Amino acid sequence: MPSLRERIRGCWPGEIHWDCPLVRYSTLRVGGSADALIEPAGREELAGLVRRLSENLIPWLVIGRGSNILASDRGVAGVVIVLGRRFSALDWAGTAEAPGCLVEAGCSLPRLLAWCAGHGISGLEFLAGIPGTVGGAIMMNAGAFGGEISQVLRLAELLDGAGRIEARRLSAEDFCYRGWREPHHKVVVAGLFAGRAGEPQEIVRRCQDYVRQRRAKQPRAVASAGSFFRNPPGEAAGRLIEQTGLKGLTVGGAQVSPAHANFLVNRGQATAYDFWRLMRLVQSRVEDRFGVRLEPEVRFVGRWDELEISR
Ligand SMILES: Cc1cc2nc3c(=O)[nH]c(=O)nc-3n(C[C@H](O)[C@H](O)[C@H](O)COP(=O)(O)OP(=O)(O)OC[C@H]3O[C@@H](n4cnc5c(N)ncnc54)[C@H](O)[C@@H]3O)c2cc1C
Repeated sequence: MPSLRERIRGCWPGEIHWDCPLVRYSTLRVGGSADALIEPAGREELAGLVRRLSENLIPWLVIGRGSNILASDRGVAGVVIVLGRRFSALDWAGTAEAPGCLVEAGCSLPRLLAWCAGHGISGLEFLAGIPGTVGGAIMMNAGAFGGEISQVLRLAELLDGAGRIEARRLSAEDFCYRGWREPHHKVVVAGLFAGRAGEPQEIVRRCQDYVRQRRAKQPRAVASAGSFFRNPPGEAAGRLIEQTGLKGLTVGGAQVSPAHANFLVNRGQATAYDFWRLMRLVQSRVEDRFGVRLEPEVRFVGRWDELEISR
């Protein structure tokens, strides 16, 4: 019986990072190791890899910038596929009056915005300051300042486990708050965004303005995943946490940010388990005080017990 390594090697002839620590691939800077980590370049490589892994029943997981994940201290079984710089082609799409762009999933949002500004495409500025990739932002229906990615996304190219890529037309109804209704285990390969014609300088100015507003209220120079909890309907999770007096609450190396109560930050030496314990403490104190159960916005990845997540 071939070992897991031999089976993974049989699926991918290129570079493989074995026992790869996920700390570097998560903005929370926690997590154990992935059995293997692979960074494909281009659709054919990705589709072939996913098809072979699926055929061989090897678990796999796609991430982008890792800015919305909490990776278990016990690591991730199988292969973590990272879509990043090597998977980030950008192309003009649309007309002069209705400009848009077709972007591969690994393109970072800052790069997408810079490209749009350079090409006079306005409408995506609300994404300024979100550190994720296009694929992660589509999966999470990322948003800020009243905008959501579903409002500007027209079409997504999706890959299934059999290695087939399909282009899917999308509308706002396909999405929900910080997520979308797409069935399980599809990979976002690319997105087609529609904007409107704008002045490059004006677009840059709006992006800078949004980033300034973030700096004024969010913690700086500290590891986080942005907002840790989803906002309950009609309410801000940060307000409930703050009103419960939890700013500064610390478990191990994880802390409720004194600057913004919905940011759980890594003070340097946190483990994923510290974040989990802090999350549970915040949930129970807020529930005791307000009767509202806060649910995490961050995605738990890797070897978490079901019980740990849902208890
Ligand atoms: C400082 C800071 C500020 C933030 N501010 C905001 C904000 O204002 N608004 C907001 O919405 N979010 C915010 N975030 C959270 C995060 O940046 C977004 O959710 C972002 O869109 C996630 O992108 P990512 O590439 O990092 O995804 P990852 O964290 O890598 O992945 C997130 C989820 O998507 C899946 N995934 C990733 N790529 C793909 C793909 N190509 N195909 C299929 N599944 C995929 C992963 O498996 C995982 O389940 C913030 C985070 C930080 C650190």
